[in-house]
Amino acid sequence: MRILLTTTSYQDTPGDHHALLGAQDYEIHRERGPLPESRMLELAGQFDAFLCGDDEITRAVLDQSLPRLRVISKYGIGLDKIDVTACTEKKVPVLFTPGVNHTTVAEHTFCLLLALVRNLIDSANAVRKGEWKRITGHEIWNKTIGIIGLGRIGQEVAKRALAFGMKVHGLDPYWPEAFAKENGIERHETIETMLPHLDVLSLHANLSESTRHLVNAQRLKLTKPELLIVNTSRAELVHMADILVALDAGSVGGYATDVLDEEPPPPSHPLLRHPKALITPHIGSRTYESVPRQAMRATLNLVNYLKGEKDVIQANKW
Ligand code: NAD
Repeated sequence: MRILLTTTSYQDTPGDHHALLGAQDYEIHRERGPLPESRMLELAGQFDAFLCGDDEITRAVLDQSLPRLRVISKYGIGLDKIDVTACTEKKVPVLFTPGVNHTTVAEHTFCLLLALVRNLIDSANAVRKGEWKRITGHEIWNKTIGIIGLGRIGQEVAKRALAFGMKVHGLDPYWPEAFAKENGIERHETIETMLPHLDVLSLHANLSESTRHLVNAQRLKLTKPELLIVNTSRAELVHMADILVALDAGSVGGYATDVLDEEPPPPSHPLLRHPKALITPHIGSRTYESVPRQAMRATLNLVNYLKGEKDVIQANKW
């Protein structure tokens, strides 16, 4: 059995998942992902299973991987780089790991937000250079945060926002009624009605055709000046060129993001050195606590599926 292992979080972080994978009678081929479609096409056809991160598994990759490929075990929850529709048509199970990284990503969301409002990076870097530069920041207490996508991560963000004394508004087509009622979250049916209330917008919807470019120039006309946007979901939820214009114009006061449209970004990426942008390299779920949980779940999914056991979490059905 040949397995393609591409996720670097999995490979680089200690945990029991290494022993479990090592105990199987598999030949493991390791690559440093996320791999573009071109590299996946070079490798496709040589493996019985993928244990992958955000590699581009397109229809073409899938076609070339069959008939040998039996299963895809995704390390993580976002499936936007996998053509799940094609996998379902070809009856290739896509396994994934929901419910193991929501607290870690919610913490990173607040790490970004607090760093943004208190100018943490500039202040700390100035001190490191020997300067005692005291930049005035903002509180988040009593401010209003709007959460797009009140799923697992969005709900953890809401709990933390409430603990900071923020007012919480939310938008999700699958409205978590009991959670929202218990926590006093104000419901919106559209982003248009929510945006004018907000000091902070936090993005937690999965990327799909309905969420691509959800934040765009048209909608940014509806915000208070200096809206802060935090994105720990997927870069494509915002229209990058429109965000850059809004940052320059001041309708967006800061954009803190863990995700970019190209990862790693080219040195010329226009957001990289923008003074109002704060970027982390997709580390939202990368903690010593969360990685072993995700990695163990992804390994269990793979091993159990290949043994014909039932304890697997599958995203697609036919
Ligand atoms: P989830 O499936 O529990 O929640 C996603 C929510 O978004 C769902 O409730 C869904 O109904 C909602 N949604 C879908 N379309 C919407 C729309 N048009 N408007 C508003 N809401 C919409 O997933 P999760 O575990 O909370 O993860 C959310 C996303 O976070 C993932 O899809 C992934 O892209 C991203 N993520 C990033 C990292 C990171 O390292 N930065 C780690 C894990 C997940």
